[in-house]
Amino acid sequence: METESLVNITENGPDERGFFGEYGGKFVPTVLEDILAEIRDSYLELRRSGGFIEELEGLLRTYVGRPSPVYYAGNLTRMAGGAGIYFKREDLNHTGAHKINHCLGEALLAKRMGKSRLIAETGAGQHGVALATAAAIVGLPCSIYMGIVDMVKERPNVTRMRLLGAEVVPVDRGPGTLKEAVDAAFEAYMEDPAGQFYAIGSVVGPDPFPMMVRDFQAVVGVEAREQFLEMTGSLPDCLVACVGGGSNAIGLFTAFLGDDGIDIYGVEPSGRSFRPGDHAATLTMGSPGTIHGFRCYLLQDDDGEPLPVHSVASGLDYPGVGPQHSHLKDMGRVTYVTVNDEQAIEAFRTLSRVEGIIPALESAHAVAYAMELAAASPSGSRILVNLSGRGDKDLDYVVENYGM
Ligand SMILES: *Cc1c(COP(=O)(O)O)cnc(C)c1O
Repeated sequence: METESLVNITENGPDERGFFGEYGGKFVPTVLEDILAEIRDSYLELRRSGGFIEELEGLLRTYVGRPSPVYYAGNLTRMAGGAGIYFKREDLNHTGAHKINHCLGEALLAKRMGKSRLIAETGAGQHGVALATAAAIVGLPCSIYMGIVDMVKERPNVTRMRLLGAEVVPVDRGPGTLKEAVDAAFEAYMEDPAGQFYAIGSVVGPDPFPMMVRDFQAVVGVEAREQFLEMTGSLPDCLVACVGGGSNAIGLFTAFLGDDGIDIYGVEPSGRSFRPGDHAATLTMGSPGTIHGFRCYLLQDDDGEPLPVHSVASGLDYPGVGPQHSHLKDMGRVTYVTVNDEQAIEAFRTLSRVEGIIPALESAHAVAYAMELAAASPSGSRILVNLSGRGDKDLDYVVENYGM
């Protein structure tokens, strides 16, 4: 991630008010407006100064292990038939997924702004673990709010976060899952919003988070573009990535948005069915609305309240989606498609057996679609897939619920 590539990135928005077309913005209590504006100003200034970028790049290289390789999946390609399938291996990062890229960026920014504590909520614990890791290396106290039901289900991640030095705060109100954790974390943040930093876990939330998290993830596409060119002599014909909030997808896509010849696909989870509550296919089934301080496509009821969501991949079950993805859909630049639970489980097994790579269930959605797309594409064409994370976290769940 060179300073120059960061500068070019802003051509994709947002505008000064934080909007990508009609999506995004900053719908927050008045006290937060100024604090968010200060974060935006500090970020824009810091990323122009060499020191911040240098420190971040240094950590990405020597701590995360970047650049992650691009791998040609020959066995999977032969099995699917048609286009060649290539993986950007974000599963090989320290902590096992792409989330560490933006958690490090946010932690470094908070530190340089003189904030005293990082705060976040976590559902299954993936964002919590990545942020606790970043807090440890940067040297900031970190409080992670987690529903008690999730804490029991995701015990190993609770242990990880505590080992990493984070405080895990149990939230026992209501059903004790993600929504209650969000409320509790936000209340704790509001006790001292000027002194603390709420680290958002994807390209969602009020401005400037969709922009900042995208910029921190853009290293994925910048690297992959260069690696792919070197490896094959040309650019890929298609890109594929799974979309929860949308950070790993926009991370891969950004470096290629200006290349008209490249077809770009974001894969959403259609879960058990397309009935409300059975899926989290926000861009496919939703309509414009407001959630957590920003405008985006939203799965909502008649009163604009977010609907319950489901996916076998817990990292994908959010009723909203990044504002830039919402805009890219309306522009027609990115095509959003769906893969259901069963197809994702099958791709999880296939990739493990055929390539010796156990993918995260989130990433398995992208793999499933890429195999379909490859089969329908001419041989000689090439598909680049973001393998956003590894599947160690999903082993027990898959074996218990679907068998070996
Ligand atoms: C959290 C997560 C996702 C979904 O988040 P995005 O912001 O949509 O990228 C995807 N893959 C993995 C491995 C994750 O941990």
